[in-house]
Amino acid sequence: MAKIEKLLIANRGEIALRIHRACKEMGIRTVAVHSTADADAMHVRLADEAICIGPPAAGQSYLNIPNIISAAEISGADAIHPGYGFLSENAKFAEIVESHGIIFVGPKPEHIRIMGDKVEAKRTAGALGLPLVPGSDGAISDLEEAKKLAADVGYPVLIKAASGGGGRGMKVVPSEDQLESAMQQAGSEAKAAFGDATVYMEKYLGNPRHIEFQVFGDGNGNAIHLGERDCSLQRRHQKVLEEATSPVITPQERARMGGVVAKAMADMGYRGAGTIEFLWEDGKFYFIEMNTRLQVEHPVTEMITGVDLVREQIRVAEGMPLSVAQDEIEFRGHAIECRINAEDPKTFAPSPGQITYYHAPGGMHVRVDSGIYAGYRIPPYYDSMIAKLIVFGRTREGCIMRLRRALDEFVVEGVKTTVPLHQALLDQPDFLSGNYTIKWLEEWLASQD
Ligand code: ADP
Repeated sequence: MAKIEKLLIANRGEIALRIHRACKEMGIRTVAVHSTADADAMHVRLADEAICIGPPAAGQSYLNIPNIISAAEISGADAIHPGYGFLSENAKFAEIVESHGIIFVGPKPEHIRIMGDKVEAKRTAGALGLPLVPGSDGAISDLEEAKKLAADVGYPVLIKAASGGGGRGMKVVPSEDQLESAMQQAGSEAKAAFGDATVYMEKYLGNPRHIEFQVFGDGNGNAIHLGERDCSLQRRHQKVLEEATSPVITPQERARMGGVVAKAMADMGYRGAGTIEFLWEDGKFYFIEMNTRLQVEHPVTEMITGVDLVREQIRVAEGMPLSVAQDEIEFRGHAIECRINAEDPKTFAPSPGQITYYHAPGGMHVRVDSGIYAGYRIPPYYDSMIAKLIVFGRTREGCIMRLRRALDEFVVEGVKTTVPLHQALLDQPDFLSGNYTIKWLEEWLASQD
């Protein structure tokens, strides 16, 4: 066991602040690293130390491994938390951190590597007993073989890039005559975006929900699950609103599937926080990928379980056992998170600039994770998410009532935000009844024009 005294936060925005807060509550000192564009960020102001690691472009700052390692050495940090995005799923980075004798607050590098390659991830998930989307057993390159397989699984099929992310390098193929060109296009898109043209095939599910399980392992063969999150409300494969529990998963099904994923993580010897993503259709789960990091939407799980996931990550990184056993985890009530972006709520055009006035909602069971403040200038270089509003209620209905109230209190002036989008969403009968799939939001947005 190695007690962490000083932790370097290799990220920015709300998640950097989230990590800083967990550290402070554990008596750990923090080091913020930031680009020149983020010198005035809230987590930089609050951290015990701050080091500038480069210019605004992420490639030269938040993705700049030598500068981040130097900052850790100069400040004497004994651990690095990568947050989400940026270097969080870079196995090489995790390895470099560890080779410098610094604790990486995340999974073992080999597990990051396996899950970062979707073909490898799928094979591993299958071997661990997770249900898969029917499709190719590994990479596929031969057209004749692909035709035969597609005929077997049935059209439409989906061609996906092994190293894909953010929905890039994916092609839906409605019929055999389009298979060849889709394979070529997906391959060259993937080559351009990720430097790897490897593709594989999956059955295209027509109208699924996106349901993911939060898992946690101690790295020594013990693992638990913390239930599911329903992240079906997406626009261009980006999640907009997430909830826990899912309106369609029964306690029995949660316990059954949770047991399956927890056992898989235990068998793997997984360390730290992870998320296993499934598509869910007609009562069945189909594994699509595993994220080997903390998710943006982790607070909804914290709200219904009472477990602080960042604290848990840090404890496990220190070599401590999991702080809760599976039978101590209770799923209480309902939580919803709205991602608030600095964007036009109708066109989704980014709206960076200075916040002239800011008032955050509060009150019982209302949580705002955000680094913004009045006078803060949102830089144009990064993701447009500026805040997460997370609300808890004893029931889903109560949670929605409170969320409406909290959204009404949310005031951000000087830039446009997606608060009005969330307000409109909460009035939709399909949302209120929980009857939505991954296609719903885009269809609804299209019908609003
Ligand atoms: P990425 O890493 O690019 O986000 P994922 O495998 O997580 O790729 O898929 C992204 C999204 O694409 C999913 O959330 C879902 O909306 C859609 N998708 C992926 N696989 C399938 C499939 N087999 N059938 C239908 N939709 C899919």
